[in-house]
Amino acid sequence: MKELFTMLTDPRFHLLYGVTQRFSMGPEPRQVRLNREFMTLSEGIKKKTRVYPFMKLGTHPSPLKGDLYSPMFGVVSEINERSLFLEAVEPDEELRALADAVHKVDVMELARDCGAGADGRKRLAQLLKELGLNTKSLGQECETLIINGLNPDPGITWAEPMLMTHRATLSAGLALLRQLTPARKIVLAVPKEMRLQFHDLEVASVPSQYPASVNELVVKAVTGKERPEGVGIVGLHNLWSLGRVVETGLPLVETVLTVGSLRHSGNYIVKDGCMVGELLNFAGIELREGDALVRGGPLRGESLDKLSRSVTRGAMGVFVVEAGTVPPMQGHAPCINCGACVLICPAHLSPNLLSRYAEFALHERARKEHVQSCLECGLCGYVCIARRPVLQYIRLAKHKLAEADQQKLTPLEPVGVTPGNEPASKEDSHA
Ligand code: SF4
Ligand code: SF4
Repeated sequence: MKELFTMLTDPRFHLLYGVTQRFSMGPEPRQVRLNREFMTLSEGIKKKTRVYPFMKLGTHPSPLKGDLYSPMFGVVSEINERSLFLEAVEPDEELRALADAVHKVDVMELARDCGAGADGRKRLAQLLKELGLNTKSLGQECETLIINGLNPDPGITWAEPMLMTHRATLSAGLALLRQLTPARKIVLAVPKEMRLQFHDLEVASVPSQYPASVNELVVKAVTGKERPEGVGIVGLHNLWSLGRVVETGLPLVETVLTVGSLRHSGNYIVKDGCMVGELLNFAGIELREGDALVRGGPLRGESLDKLSRSVTRGAMGVFVVEAGTVPPMQGHAPCINCGACVLICPAHLSPNLLSRYAEFALHERARKEHVQSCLECGLCGYVCIARRPVLQYIRLAKHKLAEADQQKLTPLEPVGVTPGNEPASKEDSHA
C-alpha cells in the first residue's frame, strides 16, 4: 500500500506541465546497436567494415520507412537478422576524408523540385526515406492534420521545451511538412496552460492531464468528434525530425528522449542505436539490483532485460524505476473485481474482462468486447490494486487478433470456459 501511495506521488507518473528543462546533447557512443530488420545492407557492409558518419548502411524495402545510416566513425563488430553493431573508432585520414566528402543537400530545394500534387508528394516521400525518415504518418491522406504538441506519456518532458526553444527546427520541419501532406489545414495542439503562437498555424488548446495527450483524445479535443473522417495526427518529434533534416541537409541519425529516474530527469538528443547503459551512465543514473529498466514512458513503456538494449527511433524515453518505488506487476495475480479500471478507462471499455480474456487466450471474446478500441493509455494497469499487467494482456490480445486476421484464420478458443473459473494460462503474460 505504501508503494502504491509512493507511485501516486511520483512525478514520473504525472503529466507535468511547465517543465522547462532544456535539451542537452547525449553521449558520443562507444558502441551502437542499429535496427536493421528487413533492411538490405549496402554493398560492402560486413563484419569489420569501417564506417563514417552518414554513410549509408542499409535500405528498407518499404517506401515509407527510412533507410539506415551510420551515426559515427566506427567498425562493424557484429551483424545478425535484427541488428547491426558498430564499435566507435578513432578515424584515420582516409575515414575523415570520406566523412568530409558526404554531400549535404538543400532539402527544401529538392522538395520544391518534386513538384505538387500526389505524384510530387510521392517523390518527396521517397527522397525523405532516402534521408532516413519514416514518412508513413507524415504523408497520411487527410484534410486536416493535427500536430500533437503534448508530452506523449507521464514522465516524458521534452515537448514543452521543444516548443519553446527548438522553434527554428520546428519551423523548418513545418515548411517541409506543408510540401509532404495533402492536408489543407494543419492544427498545432498544445496544453491549455501554454500561450503560444506558431506562424500562421491554428493553435488548439487541449487538456494537459494524462491521458489527454493520447492521439485519439487529442483528435477528439480538437475536433469535438471521436474518430472523425479526414483527420490525421502526427507527433511533435516527427516535425522535429523533418526540421533536423532540413537544417543539416544530412540523413537523420538521432532522436530526442527523456532519460529519468526518481531523482534525475533530462532531455537529450541522442545518436541512433545508443546503448541504454551508456545513456544512463552519461545521465549519472545507476541501475541497482531489483530496479526496472523501461524504454518509453514509465507508465506504458516496455521493460528491458539488459543495459545493452539500444535507443530505437521513436523511443521517447528511458527510465529507471527503482525497486520499492512502484509495486511490480504480478503476471497471474487474480482480478478482485474492484472495478477501478472500468471507472477510469477513457475508452469506456471493461479492462478487467479484456485482460482476463487475453490471459486465457479467449481473443475473439476480447474482440467482441471492442479490445481494438483500447487507446493503450495504461491507466487500467496504473490503478489496478491487484497489480495485474492489464495493458500488457490487452496488447497481447490485439497482437493475436492482428496475427489471426493476417492469416485469415479464426483463432480457436477453449470451450466451456468463463472468466472467473479459467484453467491456468498457457500464454506468456508479458509481465
Ligand atoms: S489501456 Fe486500459 S484504461 Fe486505457 S483505453 Fe485501454 S483498456 Fe482503457
Ligand atoms: S483494477 Fe485490477 S483488480 Fe480491479 S477490476 Fe480492474 S483488473 Fe480487476
